[in-house]
Amino acid sequence: MEVLCARKIRYICAMLEEKKPSKTSLEELGEFALIDQLTKAATTAMPSTVHGIGDDAAVLNHDGETVVSTDMLIEGVHFDLGYMPLKHLGYKAVVVNLSDIYAMGAQATQILVSIAVSNRFTLEAIEELYAGIHLACKTYGVDLVGGDTTSSKQGLQLSVTALGKAPKTGAVLRSGANDNDLLVVSGDLGAAYMGLQVLARENEVFKVNPNHKPDLEPYTYLVERQLKPEARKDIVGLLEALEVIPTAMIDISDGLSSEILHLCQKSEVGCRLYEDKIPLDPQFISVCEEFNVDSTTLALSGGEDYELLFTVKQEDFDKIKGNPNLSVIGHMTTKGDGAHLVTRGDEVIPLKAQGWKAF
Ligand code: ADP
Ligand code: MG
Repeated sequence: MEVLCARKIRYICAMLEEKKPSKTSLEELGEFALIDQLTKAATTAMPSTVHGIGDDAAVLNHDGETVVSTDMLIEGVHFDLGYMPLKHLGYKAVVVNLSDIYAMGAQATQILVSIAVSNRFTLEAIEELYAGIHLACKTYGVDLVGGDTTSSKQGLQLSVTALGKAPKTGAVLRSGANDNDLLVVSGDLGAAYMGLQVLARENEVFKVNPNHKPDLEPYTYLVERQLKPEARKDIVGLLEALEVIPTAMIDISDGLSSEILHLCQKSEVGCRLYEDKIPLDPQFISVCEEFNVDSTTLALSGGEDYELLFTVKQEDFDKIKGNPNLSVIGHMTTKGDGAHLVTRGDEVIPLKAQGWKAF
């Protein structure tokens, strides 16, 4: 995964500070011209896209199972434009939806994007948002095939729907884990949440002192994980190449412990998670020390990592062991055992869902 270089971080900081003069008002432009402007860069490349934007509905042709997922993002609830540049918001909105498609073991193929915008936004601002959306489409090889555009009384609301094609063996559900299956996670955990803490702290300082020049150099990986998360399309491909079919899978949007509990509940199994096996990035560990917070707690409950959490049969261990993208962090047990964390000190404590609370 590419890490934000110092130059990019400085660019983001400059964008955060810059107060762009208002340019083209959306009122003047009108809905149809806005849609044209936003969607002119949308090209269709997937074989399953028969007709994209421009008709009353898109026409798709997936042979086999289609997976579909949707997510809504509300300004002030899910994002704060104070420290989320619009281009990053567009990119992230797409990526978090694609993550749900990959979590079904499927390949993402199309997205639809609906927006509601208040007249506080200019055409140029919404074009920034769409630059991020188009970039994500290009990066992940998905087609933007439709959406809806409307006005809002206040703020920006954004909804993305993603579609994908399941493998021939069928979509991977949350409910397929069995007693003794290994619990595996991709990448590392907690960094996105700490990235948000770093940005929030810089934003507070900036409010008090507008001349403050944030130094984000020591936090590049964390800030990148927050502002430019990536979905693990590569892991779906990797598992296919290794000929490993996960028995159950989920993406980590709300924090490791709550996702483990979802797998346990849907699969009707218990679990043992080993604290010393949880993959943490060294930058995450050192910033947890700086903020005086417990790294395990944040890895368990910090959200927005968008890694994949899955279970595999014991006999698949040889195929995945030693892979730098994958960590075996525990195993499933019987339902009666419940879900537990085994600490570094060999204490066994019940896992609790602290997740990200939407309400
Ligand atoms: P309708 O009135 O039939 O809903 P629209 O005028 O809203 O049609 O949309 C025209 C075309 O543009 C459709 O293909 C629609 O899916 C697409 N579209 C509208 N808004 C967006 C958007 N924000 N992003 C992507 N495609 C959009
Ligand atoms: Mg419409």
